[in-house]
Amino acid sequence: MDYIRNFSIIAHIDHGKSTLADRLIQFTGVSDERTFKDQMLDNMDIERERGITIKSQAITLPYKARDGRTYSLNLIDTPGHVDFSYEVSRALASCEGVLLLIDAAQGVQAQTVANLYLAMEHDLEIIPVINKIDLPSADVERVIEQIDDELGLDSEGHLKCSAKAGTGIEEILEAIVHRIPPPKGNPEAPLAALIFDAHYDAFRGTIIHCRIMDGTVKSGDTIRFMSNSATYRVEETGHFLLQREKRQALCAGEVGYIIAGVKTVSDVRTGDTITLDENPCSHPLPGFREVKPVVFASIYPIASDDYEDLKTALEKYQLNDASFIYTKDSSAALGQGFRCGFLGLLHLEVVQERLEREYDQSIILSVPSVRYRFTLKDGSVFYVDNPAHYPGSSSIELSEEPYIRATLMLPERYLGAVMKLCMEKRGTNSTLNYPSPGRVELIYELPLAEVIYDFYDRFKSVTQGYGSFDYEVIDYREGQLVLLDILVNGERVDALSQIVHRDRARARGLQACERLREEIPRQMFKIAIQGAIGGEIISRTTISAFRKDVIAKCYGGDISRKRKLLEKQKKGKKRMKMIGQVSIPQSAFLSVLKSD
Ligand code: GDP
Ligand code: MG
Repeated sequence: MDYIRNFSIIAHIDHGKSTLADRLIQFTGVSDERTFKDQMLDNMDIERERGITIKSQAITLPYKARDGRTYSLNLIDTPGHVDFSYEVSRALASCEGVLLLIDAAQGVQAQTVANLYLAMEHDLEIIPVINKIDLPSADVERVIEQIDDELGLDSEGHLKCSAKAGTGIEEILEAIVHRIPPPKGNPEAPLAALIFDAHYDAFRGTIIHCRIMDGTVKSGDTIRFMSNSATYRVEETGHFLLQREKRQALCAGEVGYIIAGVKTVSDVRTGDTITLDENPCSHPLPGFREVKPVVFASIYPIASDDYEDLKTALEKYQLNDASFIYTKDSSAALGQGFRCGFLGLLHLEVVQERLEREYDQSIILSVPSVRYRFTLKDGSVFYVDNPAHYPGSSSIELSEEPYIRATLMLPERYLGAVMKLCMEKRGTNSTLNYPSPGRVELIYELPLAEVIYDFYDRFKSVTQGYGSFDYEVIDYREGQLVLLDILVNGERVDALSQIVHRDRARARGLQACERLREEIPRQMFKIAIQGAIGGEIISRTTISAFRKDVIAKCYGGDISRKRKLLEKQKKGKKRMKMIGQVSIPQSAFLSVLKSD
């Protein structure tokens, strides 16, 4: 155990975490140039494109230090977005130390702070690393001040590097060896292994990623998941190098994988404790929580005969993403589909993109919703995440919606604009801190529904990209909620219905109508788009007909021919209207969410 170091890199998005991970991998020689892909740890294409790390991954780096000894450095990568902060906390619970990476030009951002707090909660050794020192706009002195003043860390111990240019890498490796303590734990004690991730392998089933806290696990053992008492027989244990490398056993202090015939990733819960069935540990490891989706939306195939295909794709997708849940759903407008739960809007976008790209699905997504809580007059309480299940205003005693606590970091010059935005989004209980001159930390309590409705984009634009944002769900609070329906030529498009705050209903209805007007192409007939609450129409727009000038083609004279043509056209219109065949593009559904 003296030669093991378990660490993670934490950073705000784009501060260079993946790039640094690649460098560490390269430097320790795990990968040769041939197998080296940019951003080794980001396995998925989308991540590479968007530069975000979605699923945590682990890799063991053998490092021969200057003291002549060879250490096993276990790098546990963490997802870098607020939607995945529970996963981050489980990864950190598997470590003894972290590299806190800060962009030399950007300085400390909201997630730098949020991630630092998570690391502090786990009593980890924190090594501040200033990255991108090669940039002309790098301001190392300012970042050093921020490390002292804003983070409350001792800036003496900071390191500097350019992950891109590959400078300062060896110093970082030496610091990991000498400053991060080796793991503790007793290999003779009953097994306690922390699950921090899992992924699906088509040949071997679920691969569990874990950190052994106490005890030893080897093939042939019967393991037990403490959250649900499910037992499995271990087929293989090993370490993650570039590929999996089989090992006889995993012992206290080590990070590695367990293969045990677990069918799907959803049978494995991140944060759960694995123990031995015949000699279990007395308590599960602390911090386990069931992850609960907070954003919901329905997914429909664009062509209804693709339903079975979509079903298969979702089954496969879920094998690899335990935080994604779905059940059957159907819509009068869009047919058979699925109601899905996501950790947040980014998670939703990721799922949507992966379904389209990796599984070749053409899908339509309904308006995302949060999970509301209704207490009815008869005293019963239920949660509604699908506007189709809105209970009807006359039966409701109390309506409540989820609130978040948002932490916003921004340069002071944007304070006015951001406060205005937060007020507009029904924010309350604000607090203001000045962590350092020129920068503010603004804390607001906001309804989650307002945040999933274009908050992030607008925040980015009012702060010109300099603001950063982090949030946690805190509680439910009373709100006047109504059901807003959208009618297209008098027909309710159930997939566009939304539960909204009463004060917002009219504006939201208008915006939805306007957006749809822009997105729905003109057709051969007039299209009326209306917003309604109950029976009351609160907004309305019209898309005028696209009218082929048929008459122009008849040169003068022949009145009867003209009339025939007009009649035909009218009939065409009528039939279209009757079937309600307005083709609404996918973009229209998403655009209803946006306000500008
Ligand atoms: P992550 O989101 O923290 O994983 O960040 P990435 O590693 O994906 O890096 C974000 C961007 O910053 C990419 O375009 C990198 O090429 C760039 N980058 C990372 N490290 C450095 C560095 O040391 N110097 C410069 N100039 N750019 C860097
Ligand atoms: Mg990354």
